[in-house]
Amino acid sequence: MTREELIQILTERVQECEACQLAQGRTNVVVGEGSLYAPIMFVGEGPGEEEDKTGRPFVGRAGQLLTKILESVQLTREEVYICNVVKCRPPNNRVPNAQEQKACAHFLYAQIMIVDPAIIVPLGSTALSFFLNQNVSISDYRGKEIQWKAGKKLFPMFHPSYLLRNPSREKGSPKDLTWQDIKKVRKFYDELKGRYQDAKG
Ligand code: SF4
Repeated sequence: MTREELIQILTERVQECEACQLAQGRTNVVVGEGSLYAPIMFVGEGPGEEEDKTGRPFVGRAGQLLTKILESVQLTREEVYICNVVKCRPPNNRVPNAQEQKACAHFLYAQIMIVDPAIIVPLGSTALSFFLNQNVSISDYRGKEIQWKAGKKLFPMFHPSYLLRNPSREKGSPKDLTWQDIKKVRKFYDELKGRYQDAKG
């Protein structure tokens, strides 16, 4: 089966899913988008209002900033894969609780298996804590390469919504650190893209 077919099946399963209470408040599920052959996968926390309305990840204010961050190093959303830990919007944008994250985890793991990125970029503390299976702060880990499972690396970055709340560009500010991090992501991408283009055929 092709990756496109596998993602289609996964999308249908997500659309039917009522495994946690977040199903009650959703307008649309938000599975993910981008290249199914991307070497780098960005993973946020969960859909917000705009994402719930449109069914697309990272399209609200924070998402627009993520798009700009990618564009600052000449990367497009189509060259990476973008998704979230949970696929339905938590009410009032609260953090998805442990039970909701656990109920939804198999969908994210399936996406990781299908897209098979070498690098996963957890955006913010919630996504990073999910991957490390413990509560951690993004400030302690951003910009660090962390060996994860199946030969994959994590490269955590600040969530763009955190950058919206902290707009300073001073040296050492979250925005400044994010600029350093995205340049590193660009470097990873350049190192990996040949290998991934071969996979696409
Ligand atoms: S958040 Fe995930 S587990 Fe919960 S209903 Fe939506 S798809 Fe299912």
